[in-house]
Amino acid sequence: MKPRPSPNYLAGYPTHLIDQVQQLIATDKLGPGLLRKYPRCHEVRTDRALYDYVQELKGRHLRNAEALSKVAFDGKLHVLHKALGLHTTVARVQGVRLKAKREIRIANVFREMPEEFLRMIVVHELAHLKEREHGKAFYQLCQHMEPDYHQLEFDLRAYLSLLEATGKPLWPARQDGKLRAFSALPIPVPHAGSHSDPDL
Ligand SMILES: [Zn+2]
Repeated sequence: MKPRPSPNYLAGYPTHLIDQVQQLIATDKLGPGLLRKYPRCHEVRTDRALYDYVQELKGRHLRNAEALSKVAFDGKLHVLHKALGLHTTVARVQGVRLKAKREIRIANVFREMPEEFLRMIVVHELAHLKEREHGKAFYQLCQHMEPDYHQLEFDLRAYLSLLEATGKPLWPARQDGKLRAFSALPIPVPHAGSHSDPDL
């Protein structure tokens, strides 16, 4: 395997952070670091489970936003095109009224990720129910739903850079649907006070 820097997912971040991620990928340290910070894959395995997960978050933070007509994982969304999630307004004719339907589709790559990353992308897509553009109000809403939003987005983008370089998911779901026992891995505990993740 030849690690290859992939700055696409990190475009817009300060150069020193991008350099740091690329360095961690090149020295095979990013994967272990992410696994220490996020040891487990979530258990949202089906579209139905994803629907319930999204509705729970929406009910907690955005009860008055428009109702969602559909929530699903989508294998056609390619993260390479930066389409991590997709919020769509589909106009459907109902009798004589034109009714807008809101859908949330989440890229398949999020099936095999820690719950924190899934939450981040769902929060992002939910925020679009209220704010179309990625402006200040949009990110304030994201942080309202998930105070650690910015850190999670950065960690996710670092992971996607790693995934592009190695092609190996860090949290692969097994074919039989059961989760790999990451808890059985010897995960070193950082010494309290002497360690902080390098801006990840
Ligand atoms: Zn967006």
